[in-house]
Amino acid sequence: MKGDTLGPSYVIQMYNPKHDVWAVTVIDNIGRGPGKGGIRMTGTVGVEEVSRLARAMTLKCAMADLPFGGAKSGIMVDPKTISKEAKREIVVWFGEQLRMYAPKYYISAPDINMAEEEMRWFVEGHGDPKAITGKPKDLGGLPHELGSTGFGVAHSAKMALEFKGIPVQGATIAIEGYGNVGVFAHKFLEEMGAKIVAVSDSRGGVYDPQGLKHAELSKTKETKGTVTAHDKGEKIEGKKIFELDVDVLIPAALPDVINYSNVENVKAKIIVEGANISIVPDLVEPLHTRGVLIIPDFVANAGGVISSYAEHMGYDEKKMFELVREKIEKSVNAMLERSKATGQILRQAAEAIALERLA
Ligand code: NAD
Repeated sequence: MKGDTLGPSYVIQMYNPKHDVWAVTVIDNIGRGPGKGGIRMTGTVGVEEVSRLARAMTLKCAMADLPFGGAKSGIMVDPKTISKEAKREIVVWFGEQLRMYAPKYYISAPDINMAEEEMRWFVEGHGDPKAITGKPKDLGGLPHELGSTGFGVAHSAKMALEFKGIPVQGATIAIEGYGNVGVFAHKFLEEMGAKIVAVSDSRGGVYDPQGLKHAELSKTKETKGTVTAHDKGEKIEGKKIFELDVDVLIPAALPDVINYSNVENVKAKIIVEGANISIVPDLVEPLHTRGVLIIPDFVANAGGVISSYAEHMGYDEKKMFELVREKIEKSVNAMLERSKATGQILRQAAEAIALERLA
């Protein structure tokens, strides 16, 4: 966009005639290092969506103080409409297309409908494992399946609780979404002594004031496909999760879930945004004025990209988790201090820090 000094540096559009599929990579900013960002494969992804996500990655990497810029890729096809072999061919082709740019200007990763196996296909096409993270272990990878993002979300919640003077031991938590982020946020917060009283997925929610155990609930989700099939606690409507009287609410699924229809009923003292843009932007300030402490998405969910950096550096799992904890703690502290000093809401304080690092 004219007047936007951050980027994008490159917008690369690609066409695969065999499969009649378009793809785009937006390398938003390379001031601090190669642009980092995953590949999403959906029927609806387009240049605008990819550009916005690439900018979010620029801010996220700067806030986590990583030597990466921001980027994102989109492959415009709904994978449910093609065969596995066609998907493989498309991802191999996509890896080939990016030889010119990756890993010098771009380092890729998984995103929606892309996981470990697809990262292997990308390497097959591209040739250099350094061009991508989230790879299988045998290719030198640290898969997202280790739970680095949920681990960072759990640490953000712990710090927010400490800041509010609420003991982590016994603090009550509600989690929307029980995928990669939600499941691991549950696991690590339970290990810290917090009590996860409610969890939801696309089919509804489950509530138990005594606390839901990670080992039991994750097994229910795995074997029965939904947390609503759990044999403990009370079934609740999914949307009720946002209105529970808990210490911490963790949205970990969809965007804009805290919106004009429910904001008045939000009772949580803290919101930790596991998912991206879970609060309608205009409502962040009123919630802050009401005293709700909100840890913004690009601070709270940076664990995944920090893990990508650890993989890029060849660190092992243990060192990766240490790095996620250290970087998340630094970011949250810097943001809280800046907000205290300037009176800015936390998101603005974090954005100001990220933009200074990018200047
Ligand atoms: P995932 O696909 O593993 O899980 C998503 C979960 O959301 C599933 O349990 C699904 O049932 C649930 N869900 C879908 N519709 C729902 C609804 N209406 N109500 C409640 N739950 C619903 O996804 P993920 O990797 O856990 O990512 C979750 C969010 O976090 C996404 O917005 C993603 O972009 C963001 N994020 C993820 C990572 C990561 O490393 N996984 C990193 C940064 C940001």
